[in-house]
Amino acid sequence: MGQKRLLVAGNWKMNGLRADAELMAEGLASRCHAMGNVAVDIALFPPATLLDYMARALDDTPIVIGGQDCHRSEKGAFTGDVSAWMLRDVGASHVLLGHSERRAGHAESSAQVKDKAQAAQAAGLVAIICVGENSSERDRGETLAVVRRQVQESLPAGATYANTIIAYEPVWAIGSGQVPSTEEIVNVHGEIRRLLVKATGDDAGATRILYGGSVKPSNAAEILGLGDVDGALVGGASLILDDFWAIVTAAVR
Ligand code: PEP
Repeated sequence: MGQKRLLVAGNWKMNGLRADAELMAEGLASRCHAMGNVAVDIALFPPATLLDYMARALDDTPIVIGGQDCHRSEKGAFTGDVSAWMLRDVGASHVLLGHSERRAGHAESSAQVKDKAQAAQAAGLVAIICVGENSSERDRGETLAVVRRQVQESLPAGATYANTIIAYEPVWAIGSGQVPSTEEIVNVHGEIRRLLVKATGDDAGATRILYGGSVKPSNAAEILGLGDVDGALVGGASLILDDFWAIVTAAVR
């Protein structure tokens, strides 16, 4: 298998109205067309309300669309939830799972993340499973232990490079402008790779591990050039067309 293409994924969180989506879709489509051969994979995770629009608006571009969460069940009496099959039905190919804002704000456990990842697999979606330590865990020197536990407990059976991506997102780095040192990122990504070898064997080398947490145009090239960093999960900067595109171009190999 050749060198993996990098993946730049934009998480819009609970941001964006239809007008924002129109501007972003038009801007991204024209930049992709101008670039011609887009030698990087790009995924956007708008709020559920914009998935249908985005999937249609980006249909003739290489950009794929994903949901920010899904329920573990296919359908049923779960008011307010969205299933993996519904995401698939609306044109999504990916789903973010276990983002720290879900783990903290909705008390999601790794066991629940695993169930959701299993549902994503069954629905034919690629699951991006997010892991990462918070600031007190970091201060106590528990980063590797926390990441190890979250990966082991969140990774579903049947995970392969084709259906699973891991995103390392230190909670303290999200939206804060702070990033770990390059050594810290390499260290954690290397540990995740070793865990993947144990869990998925031959697929581990091809499985993507993204870094997320205050990725900006100013630090993207350095972070994306690190060993075992196969792309970036971008929050705030993905809402600004020029910033997101600058990160995409930094990922072109
Ligand atoms: C995120 O929420 O996934 C994220 C990485 O956010 P930010 O880029 O804003 O730190």
